[in-house]
Amino acid sequence: MGDTIFGKIIRREIPADIVYEDDDVLAFRDLNPQAPVHVLFVPKRAIATLDAATTSDSELLGKLLLATAAYARREGLAEQGYRTVINCNEHGGQTVFHLHVHLLGGRQMHWPPG
Ligand code: 5GP
Repeated sequence: MGDTIFGKIIRREIPADIVYEDDDVLAFRDLNPQAPVHVLFVPKRAIATLDAATTSDSELLGKLLLATAAYARREGLAEQGYRTVINCNEHGGQTVFHLHVHLLGGRQMHWPPG
């Protein structure tokens, strides 16, 4: 897998507004926010897409989701609710090929998405 912009953010080669970090996960604000809160949660060990994930990634994916939920709870989003999105490949609208969870909150979400 080639490097991506998120790899550069993880290595601090380019700046980002980092809001959470632990041994396995980094979270930073999306450059082009689609909601009052729009944070991207990325595993430090890159997986290109959800489709590329395997059972050996189970623990990391669990940590990624739980870090997202814990952050949303701390930020006071959980009671009213929020949306998490993982885009996969072209039809999913994925543009950065380093798996990431979008956390969107602070406004009413609608369904179905466009
Ligand atoms: P995707 O379309 O792959 O699901 O999501 C990629 C997201 O990364 C987009 O929402 C886009 O705005 C965001 N993004 C792209 N480049 C950068 C960047 O350099 N910094 C930050 N913080 N976000 C970025």
